[in-house]
Amino acid sequence: MAKILILGAGYGGMAAAVKMQKAKIPFTIINKHSYHYFTTLLHEPAGGRNDFEPYYVQISEVLNGPEATIIKDEIQAVKPQEKKVIGKNGEYTYDYLIFALGNAPEFFGIPGLKEHSLLLRSLETAKEIRSHIENNFAAYAVDKDPSRLRIVVGGAGLTGVELCGELADYLPHLAHRYRIPESKIELINLEAAPTILPMLDKRLQETALDVLTRKGVQVRTNEKIVRVGENEVELATGEKIEARTIIWTGGVRANPLLAEAGFDCDPRGRAKVNEFLQSVDYPDVFVIGDSACFIGEDGRPLPPTAQLAGQMGDHVVDNLKALMNGQPMKKFVFHYMGTLASIGSEVGVGNIKGFKTKGVTATILKEASKAKWLINLGGLSLLAKKNKQFTRSY
Ligand code: NAD
Repeated sequence: MAKILILGAGYGGMAAAVKMQKAKIPFTIINKHSYHYFTTLLHEPAGGRNDFEPYYVQISEVLNGPEATIIKDEIQAVKPQEKKVIGKNGEYTYDYLIFALGNAPEFFGIPGLKEHSLLLRSLETAKEIRSHIENNFAAYAVDKDPSRLRIVVGGAGLTGVELCGELADYLPHLAHRYRIPESKIELINLEAAPTILPMLDKRLQETALDVLTRKGVQVRTNEKIVRVGENEVELATGEKIEARTIIWTGGVRANPLLAEAGFDCDPRGRAKVNEFLQSVDYPDVFVIGDSACFIGEDGRPLPPTAQLAGQMGDHVVDNLKALMNGQPMKKFVFHYMGTLASIGSEVGVGNIKGFKTKGVTATILKEASKAKWLINLGGLSLLAKKNKQFTRSY
């Protein structure tokens, strides 16, 4: 029996593993944590909407069949020529590898950014953002330092906008809890490009900007962060903004392990894959999700999204089965469903299958996509269980 190794339990890795389990193909999945978290929703608990429990599920709860071996380990190197990977706790050999280790933050070499900013990347970092803001609000009562109430979010892509939307709803409640006048809070979203949300059309960008502004977010476009110090952001104009909370959402690149292992990568570190999702260097290695450089119909690499990772994870299992059985593999075709951004709990913007949507409709559609993922993972029972766990924090 071939040894199949899946690295990573994000959207791509979990989609592949669930399908393997359904197909009764034995596999091993290795992940840093014992749980799978919902990356696309992390802004919600980070921004105080709910407690953290609804945003993750134990991997063993989903992959509970005899086909699944789950190993908690952090992969540190891939040795494709030796067909093995090295973890912190051990070495693992494979016949076929599915690399689904997601992305890493892109700091663009901006001095001080890595050292002095918070990131929204995982359950832990989401908790860190929330408690950091709360601790500063609590400390403001003691020292009245206004920079404790100033929050700077760098980048107005989907992550930055969704986080600002969420924080804008939450911060007034936090202010109330600590008896701070709301007018003293400053939430600043800095974007280097001339517009926010470049992946959406102009009308939706304007709607998003309008909603954020009405919620009190200071959205500043054409403002490039060039340096970050302790509690200070410097812009290309020379302006310096003092803030105790600096959150970086300025972009991602592929997991560095691929380039380190010598895979042929694009400038963002994504390993080049063929139409079947196999690495162009090693046919026994499939690369999916944010770490794959898959060329779309427009001749450019498809941008990293959860829906792409999920579809790749599903497809890769069919191709792996075909490869093992000496059958022809099928080309991967991405079915773009659309993009949705929530701006707080009640408003959203986006497009679904070419139709623009905004307001409550977008929010409902976003909820629907979350429900679809939960059903895919663990059926209606998982959806019901997770829905029960939602308890508003404010
Ligand atoms: P992004 O790359 O999409 O956006 C980062 C933004 O930061 C850009 O607009 C960029 O111009 C800006 N920026 C970069 N350098 C800057 C600087 N020095 N100063 C100020 N601004 C700067 O990154 P993201 O939002 O983290 O998204 C990463 C990927 O994940 C994307 O492909 C996105 O589509 C996906 N994603 C999807 C969802 C969703 O579907 N709801 C949510 C989050 C992320």
